[in-house]
Amino acid sequence: MYDWIVIGSGIAGLFSALEAARHGRVLVITKGALEESNTRYAQGGIAAAVAPCDSPRLHGRDTLAAGAGLCDAPAVRALTEEAAARIADLLAYRVPFDREGAALALGREGAHAVSRVLHAGGDATGFHIERALCVALRAAGVEARERTLATELLVEDGRVAGVATLDGRGVVERLPARQVVLASGGAGQLFSSTTNPAVATGDGLALAFRAGAALRDLEFVQFHPTALALAGAPPFLISEAVRGEGGVLRNRASEPFMERYDPRADLASRDVVARAIADELAAGRGPVLLDVTHLPATTVERRFPTILAFCRRYGLDMRSEPLPVAPAAHYLMGGVATDVWGATALPGLYACGEVACTGVHGANRLASNSLLEGIVFGWRSVRHALGLAGETPAPTIPSRRLYLSPRLPGRAGIPTRADVQRLLWEKVGLRREAGPLAEALRQLEAWQGALASPSTLAEHELANLLLVGRLMAAAALERRESRGAHFRSDFPAPDERWLCRLEFCQH
Ligand SMILES: Cc1cc2nc3c(=O)[nH]c(=O)nc-3n(C[C@H](O)[C@H](O)[C@H](O)COP(=O)(O)OP(=O)(O)OC[C@H]3O[C@@H](n4cnc5c(N)ncnc54)[C@H](O)[C@@H]3O)c2cc1C
Repeated sequence: MYDWIVIGSGIAGLFSALEAARHGRVLVITKGALEESNTRYAQGGIAAAVAPCDSPRLHGRDTLAAGAGLCDAPAVRALTEEAAARIADLLAYRVPFDREGAALALGREGAHAVSRVLHAGGDATGFHIERALCVALRAAGVEARERTLATELLVEDGRVAGVATLDGRGVVERLPARQVVLASGGAGQLFSSTTNPAVATGDGLALAFRAGAALRDLEFVQFHPTALALAGAPPFLISEAVRGEGGVLRNRASEPFMERYDPRADLASRDVVARAIADELAAGRGPVLLDVTHLPATTVERRFPTILAFCRRYGLDMRSEPLPVAPAAHYLMGGVATDVWGATALPGLYACGEVACTGVHGANRLASNSLLEGIVFGWRSVRHALGLAGETPAPTIPSRRLYLSPRLPGRAGIPTRADVQRLLWEKVGLRREAGPLAEALRQLEAWQGALASPSTLAEHELANLLLVGRLMAAAALERRESRGAHFRSDFPAPDERWLCRLEFCQH
């Protein structure tokens, strides 16, 4: 019997496992290698109000503004007020944040009022955090099972009591635990163009929903405006920090077109920039190019060594040539509904990091807040499980409940992952509309109904993608307004009647 089983080994899973290991026996389950996660690819950095000119209140204000009316204020307070303490923990785990002299170096990113983004290795922040936490986990002797898929949350007497797993040799096990921390990351693999690695298939959301937890805010998917769009190269993120350092988006005529779309130009919020790029491409003014050729080469080399090296592998030198870019699915604001302590409605189940919906992102995430969310709410989950939590304020945004069955009868051919990704990209992507959304929903329901019980890793992942995709399409169809990252061409403006969160519960 484990005191804690943690599912996932990104920043949220590793950080909560390290915290929990001070108090009991912990097992980390992860479906790839320990280091594989969205976390390791994070570039820009981690936001925290640590500068003298900054404060948690200012950080909170920017977070609330990005969230377009749907952030939960107490969750945002927890995020921003505890940021500095959790950064101190990361420093204690020897994360080598970049410095300017003795002080921590702070970058500026879109929609942040001040420079407050800590980074490591220039643009290799996630890699350094992941590596430092993996080293700490091994040094602490925490048990970890790699290449092991969590396939089910075991529920006994209305309480999560363990995890069923499938390992790389096909062995199925049922592992009992007093608490389970779900830290399994996002679902970028729902879309054909994504910055997320292959492991991001929304497993945790599907597992939690099938076990009886509620999922919230699934219609809010952040599309990053600038993924490298180069034939022959895999989608690769060109960090927002590139525009923060002065990078300019230009169309085929070399026009710095963002000024036409938003007074903040290249530093407008991600959804605005992503749709502007999509519009330029649709209007035949592409390719869209991100230009840093006016910056000193030394700045590019110091701040963006990872991006520079990646692009050079494909024959592009960003110091002298602009980079072709296009939007890609990047981050899921929604997730397993939790309170401000990471507790879900199911006793014994916590969720933290990208799989969770704590309410800090609302309808749109402020850049560099997600790594921070992983450590703040990972820490809080363990405090709550230990009975050391403070008060739990009521959520400030009302929820509207929708009831759906996790399984469906149906008849259709069995899709490939690529079929699902294409459907979501085309009909549940950057611009949405009732007709295509309803078609996507019908198709996803038919596919889901046709699936037999999964037995291999690929089958489990496909079943999870279909369930999460279906709930996402249903939420996007239901929300008849545009807000934050959710844009409906047929309802292009925000509507106060939708100042609520859509929450899915099982029938
Ligand atoms: C390219 C890129 C750049 C980014 N840049 C930034 C940035 O600069 N700043 C920022 O704040 N955010 C950034 N983000 C977002 C951020 O990286 C993620 O939101 C964050 O790392 C999520 O951390 P996590 O621990 O919740 O999940 P992940 O880091 O995704 O970890 C999830 C883990 O769960 C495991 N897992 C999943 N399903 C199962 C299962 N069924 N069984 C067992 N294990 C499972 C995975 O293998 C993985 O180890 C970026 C994301 C990407 C993709």
